[in-house]
Amino acid sequence: MNSKDIYNLFSQDFDLVRIIQTKEYIKVAKSLNKHIPSVDYPTMVVLGFAYPKRIIKHSDTHLIPSFYTFGKDYHLVMKEKIQKICDNLNIAYDYGVDNHPLDERLAAQISGIGFLGKNQLIINKDFGSYMFLAMVLLDTSIEHEIKFQIDDDCGDCRKCIVACPSHALTDQGYIQDKCISHYNQTKKALSKEEIENNYLLFGCDICQLVCPKNINKGKLIHPEFALSGKEMVSIVDLFTLSSKEFTEKYKDMAYLWKGKTILMRNALTLLYNQKNSNYNQYIRASIDKFDMPWYKETAEFILKKLSL
Ligand code: SF4
Ligand code: SF4
Repeated sequence: MNSKDIYNLFSQDFDLVRIIQTKEYIKVAKSLNKHIPSVDYPTMVVLGFAYPKRIIKHSDTHLIPSFYTFGKDYHLVMKEKIQKICDNLNIAYDYGVDNHPLDERLAAQISGIGFLGKNQLIINKDFGSYMFLAMVLLDTSIEHEIKFQIDDDCGDCRKCIVACPSHALTDQGYIQDKCISHYNQTKKALSKEEIENNYLLFGCDICQLVCPKNINKGKLIHPEFALSGKEMVSIVDLFTLSSKEFTEKYKDMAYLWKGKTILMRNALTLLYNQKNSNYNQYIRASIDKFDMPWYKETAEFILKKLSL
């Protein structure tokens, strides 16, 4: 199988396809002192799949996560596509969508999908940062690579650094613990500052929205990411459905991957910022019902403030 055949196969399902030799990735990763797990597959296919920019506002009854979670969970979408292609190849393969021990973003840079922006996202000339990445390792050798040269970078721009509300982006780099998207996906009690900075049910979009490289991008809507109504999460559902019932109702949504309690904790921060005390009875009941200390601590703090 030559690289052109591999390229054509993956291009039927993915917006961006680049093919490099795994040894090239390893050479660069070593020079950057990255941890390199043992890899037995000589060929690496790096994939990009676009998602659209869509803004929906919170209401008094429904809360909204980051728009990358709208539509079917991208992990499932990309896994299904990769498996369908690779199962027909009759060669051994391995792959990852966000979860491979090899660094997807480094592979994306080496293969020419895009450059690493100061907002820590890979930026492509056609899709900006509005794309999901995946990586497939194939047990076949290729005679030539299919990769692109990148002649773009952030230059003097600092818009994302200036806009980041929690100062997670700095001229010296990224401070993960301060990032809203990181801490609102972490099971922990939130500080007052973290509560006040959080503005979505899950994730954070600010450093993508302000990026000039994203102007006029995010228009391609794959059918899998069509709106289904499940991008608006009912506050009553969050506080009254069991985890099983909630997961059934909001099935296949990417914001579910850390479970319901973390969404409840994030919902509390939004109620706090909206000064919305309509759900105090539900918050009170959840404090009695849930025994996770990180949830209880945040909920007790917020209920006290909303009850003043
Ligand atoms: S996701 Fe939000 S908090 Fe994190 S770096 Fe970007 S703007 Fe800052
Ligand atoms: S906002 Fe500016 S500095 Fe930040 S990633 Fe985009 S181009 Fe780079």
